[in-house]
Amino acid sequence: MLGKERLREILRRIDGRGYKAYKDIEGHYDFGDYLLLIDHVQGDPFAAPSRLRVKVPQRIAGFPPDTYTTRSRRIALGDFLTRVFGEKCRLYCRGGRGTGKSGLVDIDHPGQQILERTSVVVNESWVEARFFVGLPAAGRRILGREAAEILFGELPQVVTNSLIFSRIPREELYNHIRSAEDQDILRGRLDELGLVCFIAEGSILPRASGVDDRPLSKGRVVYFRSPPSLSVEVELPNRGRVRGMGIPKGVTLIVGGGYHGKSTLLNAIQLGIYNHIPGDGRELVVTDPQAIKIRAEDGRRVEKVDISPFINNLPFGKRTEHFSTDDASGSTSQAANIMEALELGARLLLIDEDTSATNFMIRDHRMQELVAKEKEPITPFIDKVGQLFSERGVSTILVLGGSGDYFDVAHTVVMMEDYLPQDVSEKAKEIASKYRAERKPEGGTSFGQVAQRVPLAGSINPARGKREVKVDVKGLRHILFGRSLIDLSSLEQLVDQSQTVAIAAIILYCRNRLMDGKRSLSQILDLVEEEIDEKGLDILSPRHLGNFARPRMLEVGGAINRLRSLAIK
Ligand code: ADP
Ligand code: MG
Repeated sequence: MLGKERLREILRRIDGRGYKAYKDIEGHYDFGDYLLLIDHVQGDPFAAPSRLRVKVPQRIAGFPPDTYTTRSRRIALGDFLTRVFGEKCRLYCRGGRGTGKSGLVDIDHPGQQILERTSVVVNESWVEARFFVGLPAAGRRILGREAAEILFGELPQVVTNSLIFSRIPREELYNHIRSAEDQDILRGRLDELGLVCFIAEGSILPRASGVDDRPLSKGRVVYFRSPPSLSVEVELPNRGRVRGMGIPKGVTLIVGGGYHGKSTLLNAIQLGIYNHIPGDGRELVVTDPQAIKIRAEDGRRVEKVDISPFINNLPFGKRTEHFSTDDASGSTSQAANIMEALELGARLLLIDEDTSATNFMIRDHRMQELVAKEKEPITPFIDKVGQLFSERGVSTILVLGGSGDYFDVAHTVVMMEDYLPQDVSEKAKEIASKYRAERKPEGGTSFGQVAQRVPLAGSINPARGKREVKVDVKGLRHILFGRSLIDLSSLEQLVDQSQTVAIAAIILYCRNRLMDGKRSLSQILDLVEEEIDEKGLDILSPRHLGNFARPRMLEVGGAINRLRSLAIK
C-alpha cells in the first residue's frame, strides 16, 4: 500500500512519456477515506479502459446492516449504488480529454432489472466499487496532469457522493431495497399459492418501444386489472396487501384479437423472473424463476438431443433419440429447445404463436385425414402439453389467437381485450363441448423420456490465433468463443450484456473444472450455481472484474447447447 502522494509523483514523472509508462501506476493507494486500487492499466488510449476499484471501509461508508444483511437486500443495495455511482460520474467527470477513451470514467450500466452484479460489492467491512477509467493521452503521449485531475479531483467527489450512506438519498435507497425484497418474497411464494405467475393490479406492461425497455409513457398506458375470478390477494412484508391476477399451474392460453396486448402480457411474464426497479411498472409482475421462453430457431445447431417425444419417423428411418443437426428446421429447433429446457429443470414454458413453428403447434383434423400419422414425423405440441403437466409438473402459458383446438387441453383461458384480461375458461370449455374437435390426439400414452446429456470438455475450444483463451462478448446476444460464434438471440430472457460476459466466463469455468466426461450438463450447472451462491461471481475470475451480472443457469446451458462445436458423450 502506497500513500496517494506516491501516485501523484509517478504521474508527474511519466507525464509526456509513451503510453506504456502508465503501467507504473498499477498498485494500491491510500486516499485516507478510501483505498484506490489500480488493477489493470490499458495498453493504449483506444484499448478497453483501465480497471480500477475503490474500497471504502464501513467505518466511513456507514451503511446500516439492514441494507445488506440478506441476499435480497445486498443485491438491491449493490444495484442502487452502481446507479448512483454512474450518475455521479456523469455529474462530476468532464470526460473527453484527449485521444480515444481519454478521460472516460464509468461503471457498469444496470437497466430496468435489479441483478446480482460485481460492479459494487458490499459487506460488513467494505463498500467496493469497480469501474473504468480511460487514462488520458494526447496521441500516445501520457497526459499526467489530466490523469491527476481525474484521480485526485473528480473521483473523490464521485466516491463521496455515492458510496457514503449519509450522502445518498435514504428514502430512495430503502424504497429500492424493500421493493426488491417484496419481489423476491412473492416469487418465493408462488409455488405454495399454486401459481406460476402473479401480475399486480396497476402494473404497466407495455414498453416505450421494441428497443427501449422503459415503460410506455403514462398517458398512453392501460393499467393492468385482474378479472375477478383470477384475482389473488397476497400480503408482502413491505408493500402490505396487494391484489393481482394469479395464473395457476397447468396449461394456460392467452387468446384475443390481434393487437390486443397478448404478446405484451407474455413478455412481461417472461421477465418476471427478475426484480424490477421502482417505477418500472413491472415491480410486481413475478414469475416462476424456472420459466423459459421457447421459440422456433431454425438454423441452430442441435447436439444429440432426444427429441423423440415430438419428432419421430423421419424420412429414411433416421432416429431421433440422439438427434443432431447443424441446421435445424423451425419445428425441430422448437422441439430441441423444449427438451433442452426440460433437461435443465424448466418448470414453466412460455410460448408465443408469433415466434413458433405452426406445424409444431398444431395439426388439424383435415390435415390428419390427408397426411397419415406414419408419414408425419411431428407430434404437435397440443398433444404433449397436457402430459407435460400431469406427468412432469411442467406448466405452459401459450399465446395463441389462431387455434381453438387448444381449448380441449387448457385449464385456464385468458382473453385479452383492449389490453385487459378476461377469464373465458368456462366459455372456452362450453365451446369445446358444443363443437367437438374432430382431430385425433396423437400424443400416445405418455410424454416420453427426458435424457440427461454429458458434455465433453475437449469439444469446447476457446483458442484463437496465438491465444490459448480468447473469448469476446459482442453486445448482448453474441459470444465469440475461440473461433466459434455463439448466437444467443433466441434466449429472450437475457437482458444485460454483463450477464453475457458472465455466461462466457461460466462456460470456461465449467470446461476447465467441472466437465469430467461423467457429469451431466445439469449436474455441472447445479455445481456452478452452488459455488456462485456460496462465494459470489468473483469465482469466475481472479481479476476483480466489475462487469459480471448473474445469468440463470438456463441461459448458461442455452449458450453451451448453442456452441457449434459442442460434443455430447
Ligand atoms: P398482440 O400480441 O395481441 O397482437 P401486442 O401485445 O403486440 O398485441 O400489442 C400491440 C400493441 O399494443 C403494442 O404496440 C403494445 O405496446 C400496445 N399495448 C399492449 N398493451 C398495452 C397496454 N396495456 N396499454 C397501452 N398499450 C398497450
Ligand atoms: Mg402477438
